[in-house]
Amino acid sequence: MAAADPTPILPGGTLGILGGGQLGAMFAMAARRMGYRVEAISDIADCPAARHCDRLHVGDYGDTAFLTRAAAGLDVVTFEFENIPAEAGRSLAAVVPVRPSPDVLFTTQDRAREKAFLTQHGFACAPHRLVRSREQLHAAVADLGLPAVLKTAAFGYDGKGQMKLTRTEDIDTAWATLGAGADGPRELVLEGWIDFDCEISVVSARGLDGNIATFAPSRNAHADHILDVSIAPAGLSQPTLSAATDVAGKILAVLGVVGVACVEFFVTKDGAVLVNEIAPRTHNSGHLTIEACDTSQFEQQVRAVCGLPLGSTRQRLPAAMANVLGDVWAKGEPDWAAALGVPGVSLHLYGKSEPRPGRKMGHLTALADTADEALLRVTRSRDLMTLARLRPS
Ligand code: AMP
Repeated sequence: MAAADPTPILPGGTLGILGGGQLGAMFAMAARRMGYRVEAISDIADCPAARHCDRLHVGDYGDTAFLTRAAAGLDVVTFEFENIPAEAGRSLAAVVPVRPSPDVLFTTQDRAREKAFLTQHGFACAPHRLVRSREQLHAAVADLGLPAVLKTAAFGYDGKGQMKLTRTEDIDTAWATLGAGADGPRELVLEGWIDFDCEISVVSARGLDGNIATFAPSRNAHADHILDVSIAPAGLSQPTLSAATDVAGKILAVLGVVGVACVEFFVTKDGAVLVNEIAPRTHNSGHLTIEACDTSQFEQQVRAVCGLPLGSTRQRLPAAMANVLGDVWAKGEPDWAAALGVPGVSLHLYGKSEPRPGRKMGHLTALADTADEALLRVTRSRDLMTLARLRPS
């Protein structure tokens, strides 16, 4: 692996982003605004980052020769999603600095390894058991009780690869659905059900010098397992917010992250925080930093991976973000003019051509004097996209 070089990569340098989704597109926009060249590496030619980078390398993430060719001329590579083979990161790291390191990716891309990391370092998380057979699943349910959530260890996102178990009869069905793979049993994690008060997330950055800068925690609500809305400030007690901020910073430090990472938490009814997931990259719940903060999460990612000083994470105004999913297109083109008529609202569309249900097509951010008012604005704006279509003509 290339040694950590403390010399900063300055504007004019070329940054590589592994993955071509909207997080890569927004990284590219921030980096190019700052005078960098950006090359994206993706397995899809028609990806959101394609419109915003200087060069797109299309190939297979498992193809070492392709990755090595793509890395020629890059000053650093970072990630926009974590579901890539850890080997791919390692082959890149042999030729170019990769930040965060592929080891961080390896730990966080698999729920079993991530839980082991959290437990080993004393970070509180949901009670859980590793499950590799139907018998082990029965034993884990006997241990943890019901309800519980069964999750595949690898390659899950937006609630995919998850089932809630509420009755003993669900156990065998859940094993057959998630565990019994055609090519042998899959590794699963059973988590005890957390009757949480709310969910929050903390986007944090760690520089090459070890400095950490953390954005204010945002409070998140999901619909059908997909993030629906985020608000910041989160409106929780100071001890809870401080605990989450402290844990997030410590996780980045222990993992040795150079870059941005997001730690998602469950907040229990008594205000304690339990780590749910770590994403070693920018996060959907951090999109509101673009309009609301001195430095966006994407500029922060650029600064961190380039070895530059981290930017101020001060939030200028309360903010809310609402995702715009493909479902909004169900009855035709959304009414953009009506949506943009709501004061204080900004629209981000990712340029995806096919609006499938559940697909993240864009998001709205609103700023206001309070987070509640900002939330009203983004949800009103999103409702207006489809309202006219519901009226009888
Ligand atoms: P995840 O993919 O692990 O982030 O899970 C997606 C969503 O499912 C979370 O944001 C929670 O809303 C819910 N969830 C996951 N695990 C649990 C749990 N152990 N207890 C209660 N709800 C959960």
